[in-house]
Amino acid sequence: MAVKSQISTVKTRIAPSPTGAPHVGTAYVALFNWAFARQNKGKFLLRIEDTDRARFVPQAESQILEALNWLGLSWDEGPFRQSERLPIYLEHAEDLIKKDHAYYCFCSETRLEDVRQKAQKEGLPPRYDRFCRKLDPKIAAGRAKKEKFVVRLKVPEEGTTSFADLIRGEIHFENKVLDDQVLIKSDGYPTYHLAVVVDDHQMGVTHVLRGEEWISSTPKHILLYQAFGWDLPKFAHFPVLREASRAKLSKRHGAVGILEFKEEGYLPEALLNFLALLGWSHPQGKEIFSLDDFAEKFDLRRISTTAPVFDREKLDWMNGEYIRQLGTRQLGIRLKEYLKEYRGMEIDPDILERIAPLVRERIKKLGELEALAGFFFTDVAWTKEELLGGGESGGSASEKLSAAAEILEGFTVWETKKLEEKVRGLAQEKKWEAPALFMLLRVAVTGQTVSPPLFECMEVLGKEKTVSRIKGALKILEAD
Ligand code: GLU
Repeated sequence: MAVKSQISTVKTRIAPSPTGAPHVGTAYVALFNWAFARQNKGKFLLRIEDTDRARFVPQAESQILEALNWLGLSWDEGPFRQSERLPIYLEHAEDLIKKDHAYYCFCSETRLEDVRQKAQKEGLPPRYDRFCRKLDPKIAAGRAKKEKFVVRLKVPEEGTTSFADLIRGEIHFENKVLDDQVLIKSDGYPTYHLAVVVDDHQMGVTHVLRGEEWISSTPKHILLYQAFGWDLPKFAHFPVLREASRAKLSKRHGAVGILEFKEEGYLPEALLNFLALLGWSHPQGKEIFSLDDFAEKFDLRRISTTAPVFDREKLDWMNGEYIRQLGTRQLGIRLKEYLKEYRGMEIDPDILERIAPLVRERIKKLGELEALAGFFFTDVAWTKEELLGGGESGGSASEKLSAAAEILEGFTVWETKKLEEKVRGLAQEKKWEAPALFMLLRVAVTGQTVSPPLFECMEVLGKEKTVSRIKGALKILEAD
């Protein structure tokens, strides 16, 4: 007898709700979904779950798209929007009513509140008392034409609903603890539970990989699949990311939104590499690896269920490593794009390419460029105190600046080594301490006491700017 084998293409999805700026937890789950699809030569889809109208934030969808695009987690299908599919959910809810797996409920908010309070007093979970479940279906259908209603799932009173979580193993729920979940709300919108099941089925999702906060919803979803007579997808629930204190990620500790990381100047590939190591480890113990390598090697079964710590220091270190790995041209381009997007600056890419090697070892995030090297493209200002900060030792500061300006002005070979030789020669000739002279010049040229190496800065800044800054500083010193 021939055995029919049906191999369905793996399909995963990320299904964020547009209720606010996309959270880094969404990036984490999206990364694993993306990689799992990639590993299995499958497809990854994006669905916007916008059925909660009370929590809907209009700009959130475009932020979700921007965040995923920035990360390079491109989707093969979508974005689908649940709000554009409302009739589909309604039809499915009606189908369930017909099959006696769901029912109309007409209970008012006041009654539901009474039920909740009564349950609370008795120390019971605040569940619906199934009052409308006993209504005659024909009468209920008639009332639904005139009255406000919700549709509820008829959860079996007995039995167990189980599933084999790909990360956690077998999970069981007693049906008697489950509420008769609302499927269609009184505004005609489906709840997440109905919409997610209908969509995952219709869109051919084979693997539902999501955060652990959805574990308790899974039995309801399974009951829905069974009520519709559909095959179940595979489920896996990722651990929730935590701060070192074990608390949920919070703004108090730093960025939580994906686009906040972008704005601070993290590189998407560094953030993804960091996320990949939360709960998972590379089989060769590598810390830094490519997305392709990750997609090839990661294994859901090797994901730990203990809450991974979102170690912000490690992320900074990793981002610094990625910055160091960039070529001069590439780093110049990243800096250019960053300054344009977040500071509205149009900086000549050639200048940035020359600045790149001076800052590459010294910044951990693109956003740190300005504090270190903003003087390359913005004017500098000083106070007398700042210029004299190094103290007056062996010759006055103004004498030093004026001698340096003079010597540099007449200098033709504007190149780091030669510049250093020249200035050192000046210090020797005048018997000035070289470090003090360098510090004074550093403040004059960069407006800062900490900067990339002085003579390299001078070379990149060019003769005209360097000399004019030294003269500008001199003027400040000479003013009363
Ligand atoms: N809309 C849900 C969310 O915002 C999706 C949960 C799921 O992946 O099923 O996270």
